[in-house]
Amino acid sequence: MKKTILSLISFLLLCTSLSSQQVICGYDLVVDQMEKQYPGYRKSINKTFENAKQQHTLTSHSNMTYTIPVVVHVVWNEEVEKLNDSLITSQIEILNEDFQRLNEDADNVRDIFADVVGNPMINFTLEEVIYVETDTLFEIDLFANELADNVKVSSIGGSDPRDVNRFLNIWICKIQPITFAGQNLGQLLGYAYPPNDLDNWPAELMVPNPNFDGVVLDYRVVGKNNPNMVDPGLGEEIQFKKGRSAVHEVGHYLGLRHIWGDGQFGALDSCDEDDGIEDTPNAGASSEFTCNALQNTCSASADDLPDMIENFMDYSTEECVNSFTIGQIALMRGVLESQRCQLVQLNCDVSTTHLAKINISIFPNPSDGIFYIESAVDDLSIFDIHIYNATGTLQNVSISGKSIDLSSYPSGLYFVEGKNKTHIFQQKLMKH
Ligand SMILES: [Zn+2]
Repeated sequence: MKKTILSLISFLLLCTSLSSQQVICGYDLVVDQMEKQYPGYRKSINKTFENAKQQHTLTSHSNMTYTIPVVVHVVWNEEVEKLNDSLITSQIEILNEDFQRLNEDADNVRDIFADVVGNPMINFTLEEVIYVETDTLFEIDLFANELADNVKVSSIGGSDPRDVNRFLNIWICKIQPITFAGQNLGQLLGYAYPPNDLDNWPAELMVPNPNFDGVVLDYRVVGKNNPNMVDPGLGEEIQFKKGRSAVHEVGHYLGLRHIWGDGQFGALDSCDEDDGIEDTPNAGASSEFTCNALQNTCSASADDLPDMIENFMDYSTEECVNSFTIGQIALMRGVLESQRCQLVQLNCDVSTTHLAKINISIFPNPSDGIFYIESAVDDLSIFDIHIYNATGTLQNVSISGKSIDLSSYPSGLYFVEGKNKTHIFQQKLMKH
């Protein structure tokens, strides 16, 4: 009985937050639903963000323009959903403008933010457009924790992705309005999964299906001057003319969170939840289809800046947004240099670049043969531990518990490396 009441309360809270804010992007929902199914999911992707930021500081590719090849799937039922080539081409142009700071409205950024905005130097090329006619409905079922991922599976009326590691797949379809008991709770304009390295998670956390990686957009928000009107549940229909839902979703795909840190789901004070980016001012709520320069949802200190409504990762109007910050750019490029490195054809080892590093110490070091590993991890048996010599050749060394026995090996320099699905440690050993 108690359980039923609790379920009902959380269900009502979910409905209330949805109907008051009108969902326009599914990222909140992705993370929120995954967190419910797999407690710790949010923490894990936060770790991914942190790793990506660190990766950026380690890389030497920071002056390159990266090119992402794009495959577009138009999955249509009515003729109007079968977008023509010019809308799709114009969407790629918009991505190129906004991700290379060539957008004409870039100068509209307010002076207070002029020093923190930048050019991501990310280029997009259209590799292929795949048209699939369907009679499948693409629905969001919040209560079954389901997004419209059936659009990504050909056997159930969608379109299978092209290699998700090497191409950004964008699926365009009619996303059905979110309803409950006949009431329109809002319209999802698109959603994307953040990079989350699921290959390296425990098997039971392998969600979502790796083939679901990419961006989904409603057909009415794609390209320049899309003629179709959207009813986002705000009392009037809106025409999306600037194709910036795709810019926002690709931002998520490259690791960005909303500038308000998505704290409104479940957090008492959402100013406490940050987007993990240093140079976006703290914000506690989204701009709900407004462009209000006075908006300042978190103003704890005297030198606090207003909310950065011109940021692509807010929910301001398409005419209002025009910029990414340098911090956001560093993160996106860091993701392209680690988790999504195959997209931009960097020579990278995707099996290790994103693993969280653990500090260990080895003692005694140097040693005559027996080395002990000291680490915060009690059970080292969860790691695959290998020893390499100075030329990188794997050594067949016995490792028992926390000790490594190199007694019968020649003197010199060795390396120990331990890895599991989420973590890695590396250390030098010197044998006398
Ligand atoms: Zn979003």
